[in-house]
Amino acid sequence: MVFAYYHRLNKHQQRIYQQSDAVASISLPDAGPLHNLTQQLSPVLAQGKRPAVEQLAQQLATEITTRLGVAPLRVKVLTVRPNWETGELHGEYSRPATRRGTSVISVWMRTAARGQVVAFRTFLRTLLHEICHHLDYELLKLADSLHTEGFYKRESSLLRQLAGAHAAPTRRTATGPKIKARDN
Ligand SMILES: [Zn+2]
Repeated sequence: MVFAYYHRLNKHQQRIYQQSDAVASISLPDAGPLHNLTQQLSPVLAQGKRPAVEQLAQQLATEITTRLGVAPLRVKVLTVRPNWETGELHGEYSRPATRRGTSVISVWMRTAARGQVVAFRTFLRTLLHEICHHLDYELLKLADSLHTEGFYKRESSLLRQLAGAHAAPTRRTATGPKIKARDN
């Protein structure tokens, strides 16, 4: 099964799509000790403590990139989601402009509509979603990071390893990002 936008891609991008779609999971070594870290996020998020949420989200990203032996990431947690073309922006992934730069993930912790703190599972999935964009480039060595069924399966596989079996349903954005991935 391919998403509809596949047919609008050129041959080069279709090859990247197929490479992305072929990988259904990311195996995280020694994921067990990270459950505790993940669980710490829940109450801190509920209390709306942005700096503490950012610190834990950063820690989680660092543990993941270290375990997988890929370039580190910087995580920024921001307050109210900006409105984006097709809805509220949940997260964003930016590749560095230079080789020595660091990729940056931005995730928002409050909804634009009512300013409420987002649900823990939603927040965690968004964070992992953006980390998956990073892993597409750094671990799978793909030339682009596209939203394929394989991509969403990898996101779910990380969620299962970090937060147990009851993964929230997948939110799907059927567009392929370039240097900047904006997700809503
Ligand atoms: Zn995305």
